[in-house]
Amino acid sequence: MRVGQVSGCFFGARDALKGVIYAKPLKNGATQEGIISEAMKELSEAEYDKTDILYMQSMGINPPFQNGSEAVDYLKQQNIPIQYGKFSDKKVHACLARNEEGNPAVLINARYRNENDKATILATAEAIAHEAGHSKDNDTVNSIQEELDNLSLNVLTHRSFEKKYPNIFEEQDSFFFTEGVNLYPKLFFEYGADKTGLKARVADKYGHMQAGDKKHPPSKLAQQIKELDVSV
Ligand SMILES: [Zn+2]
Repeated sequence: MRVGQVSGCFFGARDALKGVIYAKPLKNGATQEGIISEAMKELSEAEYDKTDILYMQSMGINPPFQNGSEAVDYLKQQNIPIQYGKFSDKKVHACLARNEEGNPAVLINARYRNENDKATILATAEAIAHEAGHSKDNDTVNSIQEELDNLSLNVLTHRSFEKKYPNIFEEQDSFFFTEGVNLYPKLFFEYGADKTGLKARVADKYGHMQAGDKKHPPSKLAQQIKELDVSV
């Protein structure tokens, strides 16, 4: 991956997928450091519900971490910093990228860099969890299965925050929430066995990818999503 090029993005809209996305990393100021350190603290305290994890696994989805602190520890061990970046497509929430020094970094969309309300800090923590999952397999190969696995981290983290801060996400109607952190928990836990909404959404955002890859063998769910083929 070249400097500025990105992978493993957490998207808010389908048109974000048109062409290669580039990001210009920004240096953190005091506000950004404050948001990121609070988001990392919240993520490190996020406990994932064991029943939720079993539910994910029953769908063929494998969360890369068993709790938020594993995700934070991984990023720290690998010296992967969290920064903001200006993306060539503003509908991206976050991506893995190379920073100014050419090192791997999690980049959060710069549009969120001055939003230090609690709900946005928690949403930022969820985006960091997703990107930590992408960084864990240490490759730039991506697939529908890898996205499902990492989206499960958003959902598990989100549900732990809902328990800790009841109603905090309820009145959030901005893009980060409606097309991101508030959406996937609903889709994952949608009533009914066929998960139509989840399949349609993942096909729309990630359907152009291969169903699985070496480190993320495709589940039946990933194959069904691939077969929906919305790329034409
Ligand atoms: Zn992703």
